[in-house]
Amino acid sequence: SNQPHLTFNDGLSIPQIGLGVWQTPNDVAVQAVETALKTGYRHVDTAAVYQNEAGVGEGLRASGVARGEIFLTTKVWNDDQGYDQTLRAMDASLDRLGTDYVDLYLIHWPSAYRGKFVDTWKALIRLREEGKAKSIGVSNFEGDYLEEIIAATGVTPALNQIQLHPRFQQRAMRAKHEKLGILTESWSPLGQGKLLDNALVADIAARHGKSPAQVIIRWHLDMGFIVIPKSVTPSRIVENFDVFDFTLSEEDKAAIAGLDAADGRIGSDPLTAQ
Ligand code: NAD
Repeated sequence: SNQPHLTFNDGLSIPQIGLGVWQTPNDVAVQAVETALKTGYRHVDTAAVYQNEAGVGEGLRASGVARGEIFLTTKVWNDDQGYDQTLRAMDASLDRLGTDYVDLYLIHWPSAYRGKFVDTWKALIRLREEGKAKSIGVSNFEGDYLEEIIAATGVTPALNQIQLHPRFQQRAMRAKHEKLGILTESWSPLGQGKLLDNALVADIAARHGKSPAQVIIRWHLDMGFIVIPKSVTPSRIVENFDVFDFTLSEEDKAAIAGLDAADGRIGSDPLTAQ
């Protein structure tokens, strides 16, 4: 399809928009994933801890879209960090998903106090060699954790999935990613929906004849991020993908740049979390 893709440092590529399924119950995930794929999405972002991998897998199959055309991401949960445990966690995820590989496997959080994320990264490297993960990456690797895993293994993650939205724009992490050749993927791209009643965003949306959600998703695309908005509502799943018929002006982007806020982070800080 002609939707935008970005290319990883391993040569493979990822559709720039995916469906996020955090807080989507297993049975609801079936319908949400099927709706998204029938709408044209070719990328789904789940995780073992979301407890909906079985529903996601069922939705993939119900869509009728060939597995090879779909980009599927899942993540190893903190409790499963460590070399052998991660290998087993991957097999359990593949079993629940009903597929023999994922396109991208991520370490969900550094969970640094466990002291296991380097061994976990080594397991992901093996899983890529075995073909169970086509590409490997990390999530919430802020601070110096990226440098630590690269120094220990010589392998650079394909991407880092971090909290990123107009109120929390992650300028320092983005600069680091660019330097290291790592793509930036935005989680909670809509600020968990809290940014949708922002007056400035509403104003830009009105001028383009689009919705606030579409403006924010377009912002992530125009900034070069991978974006995984979550919805279970069919009309919103369709709306969030209907973003290829407009682009933001330099003036729009400058206005959105001004929304970045020191207290914009939602939830826990990866340097101290879990
Ligand atoms: P989000 O920013 O995508 O916001 C989702 C919420 O916005 C929905 O629940 C709904 O209330 C609202 N919404 C969505 N589309 C809308 C529309 N068109 N109109 C009006 N309201 C709309 O929030 P999220 O779910 O936190 O993040 C997206 C995805 O990112 C998750 O589903 C998950 O896949 C991923 N994620 C990853 C991590 C991580 O630690 N790696 C953490 C959080 C989320």
